Amino acid sequence: MAFSLHGVKVPHRKNTANIAAVKMASPATVVLPTAMHIGAPATPVVKVGDHVDIGTLVAAANGAVSSPVYSSVSGTVKKIDDFLTSAGRYVPAIVIESDGADTVADITPPQVDSKESFIEAVKLSGLVGLGGAGFPTYLKFATDKPVEQLIINGTECEPYITSDTRTMIDDADSIADAINIIDKYFDIKEYIIGIENNKKEAIAEMKKIAESNSKVKVKVLPSRYPQGGEKVLIYNTTGKVVKAGCLPADVGVLVFNCTTMAYISRFIKTGMPLVAKTITVDGGAVKEPKNVTAPIGTSLKDVFDFCGGFTTEPSKVLYGGPMMGITVPSLDAPVLKQTNAVLALTAKETRIPAQTSCIRCGTCANTCPLGIDPAAIAKNYEAGNIEVLGKLGIQVCMECGCCSFNCPAARPLVQTNKLAKAAYRDYMTNKNKEENK
Ligand code: SF4
Ligand code: SF4
Repeated sequence: MAFSLHGVKVPHRKNTANIAAVKMASPATVVLPTAMHIGAPATPVVKVGDHVDIGTLVAAANGAVSSPVYSSVSGTVKKIDDFLTSAGRYVPAIVIESDGADTVADITPPQVDSKESFIEAVKLSGLVGLGGAGFPTYLKFATDKPVEQLIINGTECEPYITSDTRTMIDDADSIADAINIIDKYFDIKEYIIGIENNKKEAIAEMKKIAESNSKVKVKVLPSRYPQGGEKVLIYNTTGKVVKAGCLPADVGVLVFNCTTMAYISRFIKTGMPLVAKTITVDGGAVKEPKNVTAPIGTSLKDVFDFCGGFTTEPSKVLYGGPMMGITVPSLDAPVLKQTNAVLALTAKETRIPAQTSCIRCGTCANTCPLGIDPAAIAKNYEAGNIEVLGKLGIQVCMECGCCSFNCPAARPLVQTNKLAKAAYRDYMTNKNKEENK
């Protein structure tokens, strides 16, 4: 497999790039799932009837890979309910009725004077990768591998989404400050801000950081999806290849989303954990698209109402962008820590042409930024040749959707890849069990 800058040219539709985020008032109710991250769900530490303030811990991190959850409103815990995550598992969710007073908990900035206390502070902040992955941020810093480069992901390559762009324009100081804080405790040689060339104002702000800090470089990249895919970004900014089964730290690199960086600085300064999130609200069905800073746990219905409601019944509502976003089953779904956008798309925006037979044109393989051949994967998956899928690299597919996007036969390649990946994972688990009997 070879890395490339193939990918696809997607329509930008960055309609909200010039609109600074507008803060939303506390809604009547918030729903806080205990799993808004990769890893074990947090454990509720409040009970029904408890009073909480903004910033009160409501669920504590549970185990080595987890993240705490804090109340985003002041009010009363009404119930602890089952919540179905997008991964298909039920976890507890803490439902809080707001009292409208927005009382803030008694919080103080964390004491940070060493690498260990910095990592502990990031863990306490409840921060997870805010670009959508939801990996607990502190775990990346806890690597025992030497780190040469820290890459700040400001690419934001999905259509519509501009919330990171606004962070880079409106809160560049926090990104600069996070770099300075991290540099005190880590021996990092270089900080590279990767940013697509369609974000002129944000590039100018990031260049100001580089002008005042010789360790910082701004790498302006072509706007080509999926420029922000972690492995793609590492390759395009450093030339390093993260092989299948390896992590960025294995090649001396850490990657953080630019908004994650800004939050690190805000938390160290104020002690206010992650309780609100700036998201792009857009799509053809939204009356007044904008960037909105909403308390985490706010229902999407409340968020869309804040944007004037719908001009027409949406055909599809997504968490995230049209390339990698996840369909939202109901407008009762809440804003999560890792939500960077919610899109309400019209029937025209979601129309998929009729599927025809594969014509073996090779476009999908030529498009894949990771050098995978999706047509070969589909053929072997459908034939039940599951072991072959590993040789074809199914485990490294990042589900970016470029192959489906460019297929002239409208084959559902990314969907097939998801199924093939799960089948290969199960196959290998069973094979390992058999071998270790
Ligand atoms: S792009 Fe579509 S039609 Fe062409 S080889 Fe791939 S699956 Fe077949
Ligand atoms: S979804 Fe997977 S196979 Fe398709 S282009 Fe993206 S990485 Fe390649």
